[in-house]
Amino acid sequence: MTRLALVGFRSDANSSYRRGAAEAPPLIREAMFCESSSTWTEDGVDLPREAFTDAGDVGEGDGADTFARIEAAVAHLLDRGHSPVSLGGDHAITYPILRAFAKTYPRLSILHFDAHPDLYDEFQGNRLSHACPFARIMEEGLAERLVQVGIRAGSPPQRAQAARFGVEMIEMKDFRDDLVLEFDTPVYVTFDLDGLDPSCAPGVSHREPGGLTTRQAVDVIRRLRGRVVGADVVEFNPRMDSSGLTAMVAAKLAREMAARIVGPGSGA
Ligand code: MN
Ligand code: MN
Repeated sequence: MTRLALVGFRSDANSSYRRGAAEAPPLIREAMFCESSSTWTEDGVDLPREAFTDAGDVGEGDGADTFARIEAAVAHLLDRGHSPVSLGGDHAITYPILRAFAKTYPRLSILHFDAHPDLYDEFQGNRLSHACPFARIMEEGLAERLVQVGIRAGSPPQRAQAARFGVEMIEMKDFRDDLVLEFDTPVYVTFDLDGLDPSCAPGVSHREPGGLTTRQAVDVIRRLRGRVVGADVVEFNPRMDSSGLTAMVAAKLAREMAARIVGPGSGA
């Protein structure tokens, strides 16, 4: 059985609007193992602290080599046979994470929860912006298939990019509660918390009303048919989370995604 690993990426230098996501990893960890909630997932997988190898956090450093250090940290865990669950950080981190995953899993699919497609070729002059990771990922051929769920901020340039890369975009206006996604290659799940409705997850930098409930998102993850090999939860901004609710939501999603890596139906 594969061994789960937790790793935090304290990086928000590529956020376009508001900083703060770099402060998230310790708070998500704290919420994951907080005595106020159960360590059991809804489908009966127990994930206490001991279920994870904790690789600690990787900081921003001086910025220049942040992506190289993120990629190296994930590659190190994969090389040791671990399945990383990454705690962000803004969504820019998913590009270097996927660079590492693609070396171990050459035929990867991505399930991407988000209000935004994050497919801009560049944003505010930054090709590594958190608005661009999936343009870089698809250009480099790091994934065969990209399925986006929860989208409600698709602009014409992003729709053009989606068509160019063959992205399967399930927009929020078309979302159905009985959605079941099937994958025939290993799946990486990336969860931008602004894919949820701000009423469920207010602690994000870009609040976009009209999103998924926590319930709907958990069910898409639970019902997914395929082999999940890694996951991240990104864009939690503690500065916007006055109630602490979003930390608990991020923790629950991390736990439910981790369960799909090791639990029943995982193939692990
Ligand atoms: Mn995003
Ligand atoms: Mn987003």
